[in-house]
Amino acid sequence: MHTIPHWISGQEVVPTSGNFGPVFDPSTGEQQAQVGLASTAEMDAAIATAKAAFPAWRSTSLSRKSEILFRFRELVVANRDEIARLVSIEHGKVPSDAAGELARGIENIEFSCGIPTHMKGGFSEQVSGGIDVYSIKQPLGVVAGITPFNFPAMVPLWMFTNAIATGNTFILKPSEKDPSVTVFMAKLLKEAGLPDGVFNVVQGDKVAVDAILNNPDIAAVSFVGSTPIAKYIYSTGTANGKRVQALGGAKNHMIVLPDADINMAADASVSAGFGSAGERCMAISVVVAVGDIADPLIEAISARIPALKVGPGTDPENEMGPLITGEHRDKVASYIDGAASEGATVVVDGREGTLPEKGYFLNPSLIDHVRPGMKVYDEEIFGPVLSVIRVDTYDEAVTLINDHQYGNGTAIFTRDGGAARQFQFDIQVGMVGINVPIPVPVGYYSFGGWKASIFGDANMYGPAGIEFYTHTKTVTSRWPDPSTSSVDLGFPQTR
Ligand code: NAD
Repeated sequence: MHTIPHWISGQEVVPTSGNFGPVFDPSTGEQQAQVGLASTAEMDAAIATAKAAFPAWRSTSLSRKSEILFRFRELVVANRDEIARLVSIEHGKVPSDAAGELARGIENIEFSCGIPTHMKGGFSEQVSGGIDVYSIKQPLGVVAGITPFNFPAMVPLWMFTNAIATGNTFILKPSEKDPSVTVFMAKLLKEAGLPDGVFNVVQGDKVAVDAILNNPDIAAVSFVGSTPIAKYIYSTGTANGKRVQALGGAKNHMIVLPDADINMAADASVSAGFGSAGERCMAISVVVAVGDIADPLIEAISARIPALKVGPGTDPENEMGPLITGEHRDKVASYIDGAASEGATVVVDGREGTLPEKGYFLNPSLIDHVRPGMKVYDEEIFGPVLSVIRVDTYDEAVTLINDHQYGNGTAIFTRDGGAARQFQFDIQVGMVGINVPIPVPVGYYSFGGWKASIFGDANMYGPAGIEFYTHTKTVTSRWPDPSTSSVDLGFPQTR
């Protein structure tokens, strides 16, 4: 059985804890590898390595850091097929989807290539006679990233690109369900010239995460995953004095106004609802149909569903792969029964129709007449189940979304610019699409939801990432004329 190693101090390291987790091929349900689950001692040793690498890395010039990141970008592009393959065989998403995730991750590398500009501080000359004030950004030290299974390449790239560009050293604890791609990217970083110890991958589960949270040498933690764990990471990490950004789960609504282009809205519902088998934190899981558009919209969505090709990523024709585990597939399927028993109408049942015999597959489901209070609405499902809520007015639609516990992404479909502008003003959600169903911000903006979709103030990547991974230091400076030297015991004044 192949064992997926750690990557510490520029090399693969054989796990020593004696604990392993299974890595499945979700398309067949068969175990294809095992991953070492680090002990506290293994994690502490890796953190010590990253700590030792910090002084030299923070002293490395900005232009050298930028050069390494440019080279890393070229290596990732040159190896994009292999990266997509690694993602696809462990996660199950079809290779075109894996390539899409990587393309978005490459944006984060490109942003970090501009680190000489991002690290610029401010300068105010002559704030008082002969006195200048300026601010500089400095790295925090050793920082850690803990990532979910659903974007095994992109979410780590959200974090470590800016973290190392700003001069920190990094410990990545990837999802134990699809960990191989991170070790592959670590090798590319080394090939690009990154010094050993700056980027480390420590495989593991809760034991490894707790070791990060409890180690005093970890200055900051970036987390992306489910809301209960995000809450735990935030409360434990901050109680231990660390800077923490913890992004959690989602339930994203797409409002369709009566004037919307039905075909555009139906295409968007299908691609945003079922792409990547619904295992995206920005997936649309609720369509809010306003007024009399509900019937034609449901008809248009239902007509598209049978055309979706569900099957293993090894067949390039397939558009939707399996769910991550058998347990998760069964949980997702249970929402379909639950919805029916709570009074919703199952228009398309994903347990029906042909499915591959092996693997954790589920066809897309469409559920109508969903209401708040039903489990299918209140909870994050994280699978290919699309709910429809019917409302009479725009105001009802907005209230519904604003009352939901999550506030990650949302979208409105309309031809009315005024309505769209009002929506962007009214809605209590962090990322908004106007006729765009999955509004993941480009790498030079920042990513983050509101409400139970985030714990901590700091959004991920882009300018917010630079802020998160740096301290600001403000310097007040005077070069005295010795002839004016005198002792002044009062508080410094600028006038
Ligand atoms: P998860 O919370 O189960 O796991 C995320 C990470 O936390 C993994 O590395 C895992 O090993 C670790 N972990 C799991 N249980 C833990 C515990 N008890 N204590 C400490 N660490 C623990 O999430 P997942 O199933 O891998 O990913 C899916 C979730 O991630 C969904 O809820 C999805 O919405 C969310 N997500 C959010 C975003 C976002 O940007 N907001 C992006 C992607 C995924």
